[in-house]
Amino acid sequence: MDFQKPSASQSQAIDEIVNLLNPQTRILAVTGAGMSADSGLPTYRGVGGLYNSGETEQGMTIEQLLSGSTFRNNPNLTWKYLGQIGKACGAAKFNRGHELLAIMEHHFEDFCVLTQNIDGFHRDAGSKNLIEIHGNLHHLKCEACDFQKQVDTFEAISIPPLCDQCQSLMRPKVVLFDEMLGRDSIAHLTRQWQTGFDVVFSIGTTSVFPYIAEPVLHCHQTGKVSIEINPTETQVSNLCTYRLPLPATIVLEEIWARYSNPKKSP
Ligand SMILES: [Zn+2]
Repeated sequence: MDFQKPSASQSQAIDEIVNLLNPQTRILAVTGAGMSADSGLPTYRGVGGLYNSGETEQGMTIEQLLSGSTFRNNPNLTWKYLGQIGKACGAAKFNRGHELLAIMEHHFEDFCVLTQNIDGFHRDAGSKNLIEIHGNLHHLKCEACDFQKQVDTFEAISIPPLCDQCQSLMRPKVVLFDEMLGRDSIAHLTRQWQTGFDVVFSIGTTSVFPYIAEPVLHCHQTGKVSIEINPTETQVSNLCTYRLPLPATIVLEEIWARYSNPKKSP
């Protein structure tokens, strides 16, 4: 990754953001593919610009291939692509940005990460108050019995994976296209909304899903502060209080350095 420094005006914005924060600040960090881009991970709905060309070799879009209906009709086909994504994940790991969010969680009264990524990197980095709204590719469950397991790498397992107990097909605990969000995730998100938040960070997400864009919209409507960290413009860019078009890791490093050690800030 090329090292980029914030410009003078961006640096000023970071100072203003840091001045807004104190241990009582309730923070919601919404993250998407850009968060894991700093890990060198190809990204698609969290994991896989593997498929940026739009159509796959099967003549179906990746949305069709990674849908619940295709999985029901032709699980081997969906698994072929899930396996590719899993292998791409396996070659990468969480980055400093994930680590910083996990560190920050310990220093604020309420700090929640809402991610649409299925790579599990926030969990690996140590985030605890974490909503993996699209699930986690490394958690597999049997379609027939209650057997579940965690796979750290897709290199070592057969695709499609079969249940250790009953040999039935397993599936990852992810939300495929055309499927409903998980009940546990919705419940956690609802609790978090009830607790409320003071500041929202929108990090590396294009905010195309309504539940991902909602926190920023809420800030806009209620006069709360939202901060977008994303090199490219998104649908919510013009609604954010601050917009920092830089890689996530660089901005989070600056924010945390200045917040945790104010005397050393420039
Ligand atoms: Zn089973």
